[in-house]
Amino acid sequence: MNIAKKLCCNHLLQIEPYQSARRLGGSGEVWLNANELPYSYGDYHIDSSGYQRYPEVPSQSLLRAYADYASFSSDQLLCVRGADEGIELLIRAFCTPGSDRVVITPPTYGMYQVSANIHGVAIMEIPRDASFDLDVDAVTAVDSAKLIFICSPNNPTGNVSSERELRDILDRFKDSALVVVDEAYIEFCPEHSLQPLIDEYPNLVIVRTLSKAFGLAAVRCGFVLAPKDVIELLSKIIAPYPVPLPVEQIALQALSPEGLTRMRQRVEEINRTRISLQQRLHEMQGIVKVTTGFGNFLLVEFNDEPKAVELLAAAGVVVRTPYTQGLIHNSQRISIGSAEEMDRVVAALEGLP
Ligand code: PMP
Repeated sequence: MNIAKKLCCNHLLQIEPYQSARRLGGSGEVWLNANELPYSYGDYHIDSSGYQRYPEVPSQSLLRAYADYASFSSDQLLCVRGADEGIELLIRAFCTPGSDRVVITPPTYGMYQVSANIHGVAIMEIPRDASFDLDVDAVTAVDSAKLIFICSPNNPTGNVSSERELRDILDRFKDSALVVVDEAYIEFCPEHSLQPLIDEYPNLVIVRTLSKAFGLAAVRCGFVLAPKDVIELLSKIIAPYPVPLPVEQIALQALSPEGLTRMRQRVEEINRTRISLQQRLHEMQGIVKVTTGFGNFLLVEFNDEPKAVELLAAAGVVVRTPYTQGLIHNSQRISIGSAEEMDRVVAALEGLP
């Protein structure tokens, strides 16, 4: 007898887990499938002398360090185990299973849907247009929703939403829904952050992470930036000791003045590499479109996508087929790696018919 199947919550019987890059696997030595930084940076020190004790919750020094970096007040911040935990906590805190719903704007990051499914919360999809811009009229026409997830820069398309579009959505739902802006990639284009609006909109929530520009995907550290009352509610339902002390120690070093300088240097390098890759791909045959991206990845549409994947695989390059949600066809998402890795991508794709 399969006891898990017999006893589990009914809505979980058909659940599809998030297809993370690590879960999907792949073979090759150039990993461009998870929007990670290409190198391990920094020389982090951990001090195990206090590890027999539970950590301080929340860590005031970590909140202060992130608050200083993000120009926020520390009581508008929650530290979480990666942005994914922030997304999940928001759904758990604000959506009653079976009656509330969330809005997503596909093609977009897959975890909003997966988390909503896990919690038995309905999803309303408002697809983006052919340029992957938000359909603001359709979003603002939604009659009821608790959370509206907007990813900017959007994974996997890389484009950003304008302040005007987001203000329209925030205004429309000022008293009725939280607008959750996922800024996982915002360090690559800080001028597009909605951070300056947080005091103006009581329904604006921003999700951030140290996994991308800070190069700490394995450390699992993210932040939710939101009005104080939202943070207080999330703090009530998060696990008792969510952030391990070694994570706090590493995050504090990443957020130190030297850590921030290093992060900004890397961002400049990745942005330069992305712009150069985009230009090179534009000029190649067999490529239909490269969406202008603002994160550390590009979405590339091919004439013959299986051939492109085959050529890249033969060159040892692992890329990501976007989580399939209509709208994206014959495309692969390519993370920006080192200049040498990008040369390898270009050389492989030169074989395209
Ligand atoms: N949001 C977006 C848009 C992402 O692409 C990712 C990771 N791929 C996350 C959130 C989750 O990040 P974390 O590693 O902090 O859980």
